[in-house]
Amino acid sequence: MAKKLTVVISQGQSKNPKQRALEEEVAARLIMDRDVEVSIVPHLYDMGPDHTGLLFLRGVSGPLVVLSWIYPRAARWVLDRQGVKGREGISYLRGEDEDFDPEEQPELQGIGAADTPNRKLYCIDFRVEPTAQPYIDEIKRIVRDHSEQVVDLMSWIGGEPQPQQLERYLAQPPAEEGALPILPNPQDAEPPKRRWYPVIDYDRCTNCMECIDFCLFGVYGVDTLDRILVEAQDNCKKGCPACSRVCPENAIMFPQHKTPAIAGAEGEVAGLKIDLTQLFGGGNGKDALEMAIAERDAELVNDGRDAVGATVGIPRRQTQTAQQAKDELDDLMDGLDALDF
Ligand code: SF4
Ligand code: SF4
Repeated sequence: MAKKLTVVISQGQSKNPKQRALEEEVAARLIMDRDVEVSIVPHLYDMGPDHTGLLFLRGVSGPLVVLSWIYPRAARWVLDRQGVKGREGISYLRGEDEDFDPEEQPELQGIGAADTPNRKLYCIDFRVEPTAQPYIDEIKRIVRDHSEQVVDLMSWIGGEPQPQQLERYLAQPPAEEGALPILPNPQDAEPPKRRWYPVIDYDRCTNCMECIDFCLFGVYGVDTLDRILVEAQDNCKKGCPACSRVCPENAIMFPQHKTPAIAGAEGEVAGLKIDLTQLFGGGNGKDALEMAIAERDAELVNDGRDAVGATVGIPRRQTQTAQQAKDELDDLMDGLDALDF
């Protein structure tokens, strides 16, 4: 008997009726599917570590599909930080502007996630299609992929199931027709308060520690392996994205920021990876470092502290980065010239 695929719908932050209607239609159609177990939780980014929605997500042991209203890269690393871990499952459902080839995955330069179990975690962006059908089709494709992998149980428990693991795995009843999707706890029906904090992509992060030097609000720390960590999420200043502009690897995301590169978009133009924010900052004539310094100073002053300008925690590699960004732009222009549009 194949394990059912767990699909979790993470609700949008607003009560936008179109968003809610899409969430509800996808949930209602999946609840009828005997290969899928569907649940609804509040917005991923807003749930605190003890929220029952996250406790529920941490309890899912097999492959997991999460549909949410943020970029998939951001969703994956929000989940990882909250202890919902897995290897990246490739979804074919992408935005039209995303240059995606499943055969050509980028080489990862970062330190990678820690303690990742051998199960797949698929993150899908609810913003790429306005109707339910493409999401249903993609989930069915993932179900098919997993049912072809007859070794899934053995792989996610290392080939040696304990009797109680086997029992739990096999004892999942099919969904009752017409049953409602599960909210992990009815007390959590009220959405949690909106939050704002950085999310690190460890596939990009090289552990250079420039963010911990730059942030003067005690947001960052290190774990027991001396890996950078967003330790005190709620110390971050609402609306401040400053450290994402100084990270040399573009590894820091703010999933609710209006700039796609900062919010977790993959950042490719015609297949050539470049982050134009490195060069242009916010498009107001300032470069990224100037903007970051101004943003940090504004938050210091709001806190009743003195602005420090460029005298504290300026990343060592910024001068090189500016030149590198210019070189990347030259490469991009050369690459675009070479394309036969
Ligand atoms: S600045 Fe970026 S690459 Fe360096 S430790 Fe922080 S997140 Fe990682
Ligand atoms: S955005 Fe600002 S306050 Fe938040 S972690 Fe980065 S530098 Fe610190």
